[in-house]
Amino acid sequence: MGGEEGQGFKQLMRTFEGARIQTAARAVGVAKRALELGLDYAVNRKQFGKAIIGFPRVADKIAMSVADFVMTRELTYAAARAKDSGKRCDIEAGMAKLLAARAAWSNADASLQIHGGNGYALEYEISRVLCDARILNIFEGAAEIQAQVIAKGLMGGVN
Ligand SMILES: Cc1cc2nc3c(=O)[nH]c(=O)nc-3n(C[C@H](O)[C@H](O)[C@H](O)COP(=O)(O)OP(=O)(O)OC[C@H]3O[C@@H](n4cnc5c(N)ncnc54)[C@H](O)[C@@H]3O)c2cc1C
Repeated sequence: MGGEEGQGFKQLMRTFEGARIQTAARAVGVAKRALELGLDYAVNRKQFGKAIIGFPRVADKIAMSVADFVMTRELTYAAARAKDSGKRCDIEAGMAKLLAARAAWSNADASLQIHGGNGYALEYEISRVLCDARILNIFEGAAEIQAQVIAKGLMGGVN
């Protein structure tokens, strides 16, 4: 396998870079969907005579969710461009995966909070989105491992 004896570990690490970037991209999608659901609910749900997006603490959740979504999307594009250039990009891939998974979770959590009690019900899509978001910080290298990859990369291989 791999065609070159003794290169297996390096070849495996290169596949991890791609896998982490695609997992980051999936997390960006989850972060986006959570944002869409939260925004839609906040605009349409009326309490105390107005749409709940009119309450600053609800609007703040939406604003942070947009910022986190855009930030992680751009970081993921940057990691993908680095991969396309053919260079080693374990730090870029690790950062994209680490932050995008975190944004997916925080956006899903914020969106569920905006849904109030309904968000916990299986009938509402956000309950599934929250569940889907949680695994992103575990598979394809848990958050702790991404942090270690990034820190080791910064140390230039120094242990
Ligand atoms: C839905 C799903 C799909 C999956 N798909 C695949 C797949 O397609 N292919 C595949 O190969 N695997 C897959 N996995 C496995 C997944 O990659 C592992 O669950 C993941 O790597 C964590 O390993 P673990 O569950 O053994 O946890 P453990 O290694 O026991 O880790 C437990 C905790 O300890 C921390 N930890 C462990 N080692 C260290 C360390 N050295 N430094 C700091 N913290 C550490 C972890 O970050 C975690 O928080 C999948 C898992 C799930 C749940």
